[in-house]
Amino acid sequence: MKPTITIHGRCTGCGMCIATCPERALWPGAKRPLADVCVCTACLACVEICPVDAIAVTQAAAT
Ligand code: SF4
Ligand code: SF4
Repeated sequence: MKPTITIHGRCTGCGMCIATCPERALWPGAKRPLADVCVCTACLACVEICPVDAIAVTQAAAT
């Protein structure tokens, strides 16, 4: 099940989430980080590190 990664407009582009992600699922985009949900394990490290609470990761419910 792939998680959903949402990065909100209040993202400042600080890059802390990119540096924190153990799976390298995030990388720099034009304004906000880009995400690859295929490698994200929904560990929530990026959510916890973000200083402006701009990133949300939700694990899709198992069916
Ligand atoms: S939840 Fe974990 S694996 Fe997924 S993007 Fe964030 S830091 Fe990376
Ligand atoms: S840590 Fe938060 S503010 Fe910084 S780049 Fe990531 S989502 Fe944006």
